[in-house]
Amino acid sequence: MSGFTCPCGAHVQDGVDLSGDKAVVISDMDIDEFRGEIERPGLVEEYPDELTPCKVFQCRECKRLLLERPGEGLFAFVPEGHSESMLTSARGKKFKGNLRAEWQDKDANGYVLWGSAVAGADSGYVCDIKEWGKFQELYFSVFRRLLRADSLGNAWLRRNVGTPQVEDVHHWHSHTHRLEHGLKQTITMETLEDGRRFVDITFGASASEQGNVNHYSTSLKNKSSNQIRIYSFGGYHFRHGTWELNTIHKRLYSAGRFVQWYGLQSQWIAPGETVCFPNNSGSRPIIWAYHCEDEDGNAFIAGELLR
Ligand SMILES: [Zn+2]
Repeated sequence: MSGFTCPCGAHVQDGVDLSGDKAVVISDMDIDEFRGEIERPGLVEEYPDELTPCKVFQCRECKRLLLERPGEGLFAFVPEGHSESMLTSARGKKFKGNLRAEWQDKDANGYVLWGSAVAGADSGYVCDIKEWGKFQELYFSVFRRLLRADSLGNAWLRRNVGTPQVEDVHHWHSHTHRLEHGLKQTITMETLEDGRRFVDITFGASASEQGNVNHYSTSLKNKSSNQIRIYSFGGYHFRHGTWELNTIHKRLYSAGRFVQWYGLQSQWIAPGETVCFPNNSGSRPIIWAYHCEDEDGNAFIAGELLR
């Protein structure tokens, strides 16, 4: 295992995936450029290393912070009486961990592994299931549970790896999911067809500006039998022969914004539930579109035109 020796003599590991003892530092001077790099479509997997002035490690034994600057080596900082782990995920127990499962037909056996080392996190390892049907049941029940708790980063289930019968039974990744199935800068009316099976979108009178046609309420009804959540959303205006995203800075509104504006208690909308933003606005005609995901990880776009 790669790593180095702390001044206290303990070995500090590097090269471990998803370590709670390691972080990267981004200077406030570089934060705009960093955001621009990671938000460029198609480049999310390309980590902009040149914008990281140093990596930080914390020694598990003495809790020193060790800053590693490329080409310059290590700089150690001794804590003043603290003994906390400082570099673990900001999401704590809700850290978006992985779910991994592999099954071999010839052995009638496999493993399901999920979660993280964060104390109290939903995590586990199961390797004693002998039936493929039961194995899949376990995988998908863990998948749904982690997804509902918003504590899943990515998941895959593979069958017969290393044989000609290899099969990618299921995979899900939160980032690629958003990029591949998410809303874009432009939209067509056809994009909205699929979502009509799951969500009804209606417009009504505004709660605060009743005399103004460009102020209205917007309601979403979940018609499906699954819980759904909104990843991102935005209003689109018809310009240059196409429907263009017309929010401030041309950015989609976030999942957090949806929860806030539509007054939700959690990000999930239950089957049959209707949620409403009573003070929506934006000049007509406008399409309001929503990138949704259900509790099984299926993504779709719902939207409606307000003439
Ligand atoms: Zn140490």
